[in-house]
Amino acid sequence: MLSFLVLIAARLLAAPEGEPPNADPRVDPRMACFVAAYPGVVCGGEPNALVLCNGTRIPWEDGLDDKPFEQVLDAPDLEDTVAMRYRPGRTFAVPPVNFEPGRIRNVAFFSALYGADRKAVEATTVPVAWMPKSGGKTVRVTQVNGVAAALQRVSDDLERELPRELKDLVAKTAGVFVWREVRGTNRRSPHSFAIAIDVGVAWSDYWDWNKPDKNGAYRWKNRFPLEVVDIFERHGFVWGGKWYHFDTMHFEYRPELLVAPCVDGASPLRTLGGKPHPQPVP
Ligand SMILES: [Zn+2]
Repeated sequence: MLSFLVLIAARLLAAPEGEPPNADPRVDPRMACFVAAYPGVVCGGEPNALVLCNGTRIPWEDGLDDKPFEQVLDAPDLEDTVAMRYRPGRTFAVPPVNFEPGRIRNVAFFSALYGADRKAVEATTVPVAWMPKSGGKTVRVTQVNGVAAALQRVSDDLERELPRELKDLVAKTAGVFVWREVRGTNRRSPHSFAIAIDVGVAWSDYWDWNKPDKNGAYRWKNRFPLEVVDIFERHGFVWGGKWYHFDTMHFEYRPELLVAPCVDGASPLRTLGGKPHPQPVP
């Protein structure tokens, strides 16, 4: 699925013969990530707007370049949401301060895709049997963009590929579709849009369960098995464990961050290998 998306992205970015890539230099090439990741939903880009196939235009750049981080979180433009590149796979750096690709979310975009209020989102949800052979429960996620089908594939692969111990861990879900704000903020949680799932709470870590050091910094922690992360990423979900403000039980459907040129495919920074509970040192 991802290699398929990468192929589409490559094709979108490839220039027709005799033309430079992205003939209109005012159109950000990263808009192609959305076109590739949301086929039939996002249809193209204009100099300052992403164009949905139903004609809706989502502003791309608000012209505020030096927003403080809190303001980026509170009111990001669409460009801010792909400004940090997500690195799939088991090879990644401990996230530096405020590095968290996927934690920046544009509510106008999500509302246009999935619904602007609880009732509208709920109407797009369908049941997914989460790990039924491992004691999981049925959960509700949106079927827009094939999210429900993608989550079903995650569940199938987890049941097929994981050892018993890890199946028992991730069969337990903690939160899926809940119309709510992010804990302690006024920001709408991605769980509101039925595109996120929390699993494996018993081995999870969350930045706000810890005290910052005397400089106000949080020390990254993870006990979550990376073979689970691999399977979610394969189907278009990013993991909250790759954020400075880590949330290691959290997975969220953000396929735009997993295709070129928005994905981080640079050379490896640190190899975590196949260790089940990696604890890399910053
Ligand atoms: Zn979550």
